[in-house]
Amino acid sequence: MDKPTSAGPGAPREESLGHYEMLWDCGHCETKKLLGKTHRHCPTCGAPQGEAKRYFPTEADKVLVKDHVFTGGDRTCASCGAAQSAKAEHCGTCGASLGVAKAVPLVTPPKPVAKQKSNRIWFIVLGVVLFLVLIWFMCIRKKEIAMQVTGHRWSVVQEIEEYREVSEETWRNEVPGGARQISCSRKQRSTRSVQDGEDCKVEKVDKGDGTFEEVKKCTPRMKDEGVDDDFCSFRIDRWTKVEELKGNGSGLDVKWPPLPASSAQTRIGARRAGPKHGTYTLDLHDGKQARTCDVEEGTWKKYGDGQKIKAQVRARSGELVCASL
Ligand SMILES: [Zn+2]
Ligand SMILES: [Zn+2]
Repeated sequence: MDKPTSAGPGAPREESLGHYEMLWDCGHCETKKLLGKTHRHCPTCGAPQGEAKRYFPTEADKVLVKDHVFTGGDRTCASCGAAQSAKAEHCGTCGASLGVAKAVPLVTPPKPVAKQKSNRIWFIVLGVVLFLVLIWFMCIRKKEIAMQVTGHRWSVVQEIEEYREVSEETWRNEVPGGARQISCSRKQRSTRSVQDGEDCKVEKVDKGDGTFEEVKKCTPRMKDEGVDDDFCSFRIDRWTKVEELKGNGSGLDVKWPPLPASSAQTRIGARRAGPKHGTYTLDLHDGKQARTCDVEEGTWKKYGDGQKIKAQVRARSGELVCASL
């Protein structure tokens, strides 16, 4: 981990900022801030360093270990409790064999104090729930009332199309065959994600040999960048809506407008019938007030004039819910 690791732009990376001494306090003579790697024994009283006493220094107390060679975490002497180098075969303090000695436990660095966010999140959740309940109560809640169908009305539109030259525009790769007078200019079509700096934090990692390593961990910060393409205008022959024939009336007998004669060939100036749309309206009365609903043709035909039906209204506003018919 001593060299920066990187897999090119857009990938997270880690970089070692060096190794530093862990600290420990002598429990025998109360000497404080002894160095984890350098002071295997207390320089004041000679007591051995216990592995459980190590801690991370403050920024002011940090001591760099130059050219540190990591040979593995320490092991604890089962006989006297002193922390011993991973390479030692016998305890330097009491001489016991370290053959089956356990690795020292690693110290977890102190976490930055978490901000009191959780309470605020619950307040927001509660607020959203109350808001949704209010919306439901004011706008969505429904009740059923009796109504009578008092009439049927209809309104129809028949479009007429003509084959003629029109102007259109689109991206160059979507310009259709048969297009003429093509003229293009550059315009933003999409975006792509590109790196815009990085966000880094420094973590402390106990190496278990009396030192810790500072590791800088960085994740890329991304931003969107525009991607241009050719946008083209052109002339092309198309069937184009040129006229609307309209009709309306009441009752259940819908009369579509008569169609003009359509030409057999597709040539400039030829005409044909285009799409048609109908609007079907039911007149209703609930005993107090008249109401209307635009509905699907099938629903419109289902009810006869004078028929009594059940329909839903908004519980608060009294507005008729046409979709319930
Ligand atoms: Zn001491
Ligand atoms: Zn020992």
